[in-house]
Amino acid sequence: MEKYNKTKVVVFNTFQMYRINMLEKLKEANENGKANGYQIGAKLVRGAYMEKERKRAKDKSYEDPILTDKKSTGLQFNEGLKYCVENINNLELCMGSHNEASNYLLIELIKNNKIAKNDQRIYFSQLYGMSDHISFNLANAGYNVVKYVPYGPIETVMPYLFRRAKENTSIAGQSSRELELVKKELNRRNNI
Ligand SMILES: Cc1cc2nc3c(=O)[nH]c(=O)nc-3n(C[C@H](O)[C@H](O)[C@H](O)COP(=O)(O)OP(=O)(O)OC[C@H]3O[C@@H](n4cnc5c(N)ncnc54)[C@H](O)[C@@H]3O)c2cc1C
Repeated sequence: MEKYNKTKVVVFNTFQMYRINMLEKLKEANENGKANGYQIGAKLVRGAYMEKERKRAKDKSYEDPILTDKKSTGLQFNEGLKYCVENINNLELCMGSHNEASNYLLIELIKNNKIAKNDQRIYFSQLYGMSDHISFNLANAGYNVVKYVPYGPIETVMPYLFRRAKENTSIAGQSSRELELVKKELNRRNNI
């Protein structure tokens, strides 16, 4: 970022907000950017490697770097969003999340800070084929949305997709949030 983000943001770093102290690290990165004449590109995610990280910490006998529960991760993630939007004159934000509440929160923050919906410094992002109801509605409402397309050798892409699918099912119980919404809409149409 220091090398390439002098005049515009080209490079984004990922901030995994499930990590202890990541909000502080985000603020430090921004302060470092300001002090050294470059802008940070902040891609904010909750973090996808919790089990691996916890296991590694245990195996190698160092302190678990991940927050203790999902609620703490959500709080730090949302604080990170707030910080980025309030400091948008110094950085650019790309939020990677399928969590409806966080997507709503970013909409609120944009509105409350009187930022245009299509301001090029703020992007929402979801994975291709997942949470399309979020992406399409956001895009339709005029926000910037990126769809990430995971690709690569089958042995690396399949575990990646399984991890994402598991996250999507964990919220609603047996079926994914998205399927729940499709079912609800089909029922609504059947009852018209
Ligand atoms: C566009 C895009 C890009 C992404 N890029 C990356 C990337 O570069 N690196 C990366 O690591 N991930 C990446 N992810 C995945 C991301 O980190 C999340 O795993 C995933 O999006 C699920 O989180 P969510 O915000 O959608 O919300 P939810 O589904 O509401 O949250 C699930 C997340 O909460 C956290 N969590 C759950 N249980 C606990 C617990 N017991 N303790 C602490 N935290 C907990 C975990 O981070 C878990 O993934 C990306 C996701 C998207 C949509």
